[in-house]
Amino acid sequence: MALENGEQLEGSWLIGADGARSAVRRATGIEFEGFTWPERFLVLSTPFEFADAIPGLADVTYYADPEEWFFLLRVPGLWRAMFPVAAEVSEAEIASDAFAAARMARIIEGRGGYEIRHRTLYRVHQRVAQSFRQGRVLLAGDAAHINNPLGGMGLNGGVHDAVNLAGKLAQVIQDGAPDSLLDHYDRQRRGVTVEHVQRQTIANKQNLEAKEPEAQRAFRDRMREAAADPVKAHAYLTGISMIASLRRAEEIA
Ligand SMILES: Cc1cc2nc3c(=O)[nH]c(=O)nc-3n(C[C@H](O)[C@H](O)[C@H](O)COP(=O)(O)OP(=O)(O)OC[C@H]3O[C@@H](n4cnc5c(N)ncnc54)[C@H](O)[C@@H]3O)c2cc1C
Repeated sequence: MALENGEQLEGSWLIGADGARSAVRRATGIEFEGFTWPERFLVLSTPFEFADAIPGLADVTYYADPEEWFFLLRVPGLWRAMFPVAAEVSEAEIASDAFAAARMARIIEGRGGYEIRHRTLYRVHQRVAQSFRQGRVLLAGDAAHINNPLGGMGLNGGVHDAVNLAGKLAQVIQDGAPDSLLDHYDRQRRGVTVEHVQRQTIANKQNLEAKEPEAQRAFRDRMREAAADPVKAHAYLTGISMIASLRRAEEIA
């Protein structure tokens, strides 16, 4: 493999863990199947302490709203607020202080004047590599799959890939296991990425933006039922924490 500085590296195996625009994935020609959402996501970070202004605010909070959902996340010293931005809004308008102020004004009625420390605009994709293996090349993390950030599953899925792949590769290299074991990596990790992570993150977005009163009611009813019943709560939490996806991967032959 040639590095950007021209240096050549040789090895028996190559793991493409080089992010969504993976040069390794592109070099293999493996398709990155899926779609890109028309709207972009805008992240605005402020030092304003929302927890003082909103009693009981959790560190990760999603606000469902048919007109414009938003999401609040506490990070060290700051709160990040995330908003969808329609495809037709220009980047110049999004970069304006007035646009940021209008988005932030949705969080607490009547409050403005937020100091904005960071502003980042993302394109949002739901894509999974057609295969996580091509011969001695393997894909992991965002190089293999990307999803919208609602539910916080992208990085976690990459860690699950790394743990699964490292164990299998060690068996192949050190213990002489057949390299078909690495096809099992593909079946397990690609399988649960499609079945679980893609499905769940798409559903998370649709639940936040649901416009039909019936769909909104159904979502709230499901949440209420899960909160009221320990068995349902457990099932719900094992799903969104991705523990269920690890258990499912274990079942894949
Ligand atoms: C707004 C937002 C919020 C998110 N929130 C969450 C969350 O709450 N929870 C969660 O689990 N995930 C979240 N994610 C997703 C998470 O950030 C990614 O899934 C994760 O960072 C992917 O890790 P990675 O190592 O696969 O890829 P990356 O983090 O992209 O790392 C790839 C690395 O490869 C390097 N690289 C690339 N090309 C080359 C090359 N040619 N040569 C050498 N090096 C190269 C890059 O410099 C980089 O260091 C979020 C993403 C976004 C955009």
